[in-house]
Amino acid sequence: MTAIETPPEPCIRLNGMPVDAYPAIAPDALRGRLRPIVVAGDPVLREPCAPVAAEQFGTPELEQLVCDLFLTMYAADGVGLAANQVGVGLQLFTFDVTDDGFREVGHICNPVIEIGPPDAEGQASQRVTDSEGCLSVPGIYKDVARFDHAIVRGLDWQGNPVAVEGFDYIARCFIHETDHLKGHLYVDYLTGRHRRDALRGMHEFIEPLAAAREARAQEILAAAGASGS
Ligand SMILES: [Zn+2]
Repeated sequence: MTAIETPPEPCIRLNGMPVDAYPAIAPDALRGRLRPIVVAGDPVLREPCAPVAAEQFGTPELEQLVCDLFLTMYAADGVGLAANQVGVGLQLFTFDVTDDGFREVGHICNPVIEIGPPDAEGQASQRVTDSEGCLSVPGIYKDVARFDHAIVRGLDWQGNPVAVEGFDYIARCFIHETDHLKGHLYVDYLTGRHRRDALRGMHEFIEPLAAAREARAQEILAAAGASGS
């Protein structure tokens, strides 16, 4: 057996731009309020979200929604959260996802996704089957095939351009979240039996996981208060 080595610090990018360091919890979360996460069956998850309108960029309301999504995502131990998952039908999602030495943190409004572009060497991306879960189908994980490379372009809450590229699990996250904004859920890709199992099986997890989120949000905010940040 080989010794377990401490993995190197991941390369961190904030809204697609490299940064030297970044806290484990994005500071936006500490100004957020925990919002209830809606689950499959709620119509808001099935309607395509409206684009963030020109007059909404730079407003305190949009900034607050970003903060709320960050806190709710961390409290749920999620790596991505779309606005319609907290009942707001706007094209916006947050993410904090790490894979293979890369950590991508940020938020993006009005995302346009390019799924499966060839990589820098011209190699075509491929579909990879892996386990996937969704905070709106709580407690359930199922295998789904997704492309292993995606580029997502959009705007931050102030209207500045954002472009983020991800491979493997990070690409999976971006594709999953942009799917949400179009009114899709990952269970749509499952065969009938697995889909039914997922939608039935989630019910026992809804209340316990909502309670766990409340507790985790309190911990996050209390830790931030104690450290004076
Ligand atoms: Zn989801």
